[in-house]
Amino acid sequence: MIIFGKVFFPMSFKTKFSRIVNPITKNFSFEKFSGLLPFDGLILVYHLVSDEDVKHVKHLFPYRSVRQFEKDLDFLSNHFEFVNWEDYLNQKKTSKPKLLLTFDDGYSEFYDIISPILLRKGIFAINFINPKFIDNKELMWRNKASLIVSEIIDKEEYQDKMFEWTKNELKESISSILSINFENQNQLDEIANHLEINFKNYLQNNPVYLTSEQLIKLKKDGFGIASHGWDHPLYNQLSLEQQIDNTQKSLDYMTDNQFLNDSFAFPFTDHLVTEQFFDLIFKQNSDLKYTFGAAGLKLDSYSKNIQRIPIETKNYSAEEILKNEIIYYQVLKMLGKNTIKRS
Ligand SMILES: [Zn+2]
Repeated sequence: MIIFGKVFFPMSFKTKFSRIVNPITKNFSFEKFSGLLPFDGLILVYHLVSDEDVKHVKHLFPYRSVRQFEKDLDFLSNHFEFVNWEDYLNQKKTSKPKLLLTFDDGYSEFYDIISPILLRKGIFAINFINPKFIDNKELMWRNKASLIVSEIIDKEEYQDKMFEWTKNELKESISSILSINFENQNQLDEIANHLEINFKNYLQNNPVYLTSEQLIKLKKDGFGIASHGWDHPLYNQLSLEQQIDNTQKSLDYMTDNQFLNDSFAFPFTDHLVTEQFFDLIFKQNSDLKYTFGAAGLKLDSYSKNIQRIPIETKNYSAEEILKNEIIYYQVLKMLGKNTIKRS
């Protein structure tokens, strides 16, 4: 039984803030802002880069075209020094502020499109991957949602089938599909079955994720491979025990395959993850140095949890995103809200 309901995504305060300040900050050079950077060593998070219409991603988040990505890198190299994982850990002294690139979810585009660009420019990056989906054994639940929505939009027969089934308008069906959570992910399989969308076939024809072989090659080329949880759950919807199990299983995969077991990046967000989780996971893994969220420029009351800056915002260049992040951070600081507090 599928429960379709109305979903409403309000625009965040930060998004509104960026819309207001962007036309102003646009007129000033980045040098005016870099002095206001609150700490040395920024970490950026991308997912993938592609010139294609990526059906399993396009309804989840925006992504850069090759041209946009190269433009981002050109701007970033002018103002920052890219560092590798070792230099980041050792807090290498650099003349420009340090920058570490990270890519989440282990999409195959990292191998085909991104790594050749980074190798040509001599830039390091870490891939935070979900071991469960490596080798394209299964489609991740959010990718299933995006693929179903893409297929429904593309094919009128699917729209008719959905209407017959749910009596919902197209827009309503789409927002319901996109709001199905980790726990109820079997509903996505149910919808796919009903529409006769075959995820296995899709994966065979379009490898979505990196393969074991590609991971080994990427490691040889100098890139980092690290943990993003076993199967990309939303952590605040899991019990503490489930959070630990999901993280541990993915860290063990890294150890077994001689990838990086000294870092972990939360899938989606670390919002509402408690201190207890951090205490346990660091205690249980003596090699673990840092965990990473993606809340933008912010401090965290758990000092080993570092916030990364999402850098794929649609219609904004990397320069604009960073300027807005810096101003937003300074405003939060004035309000005493620049640190994420954990219970
Ligand atoms: Zn992710």
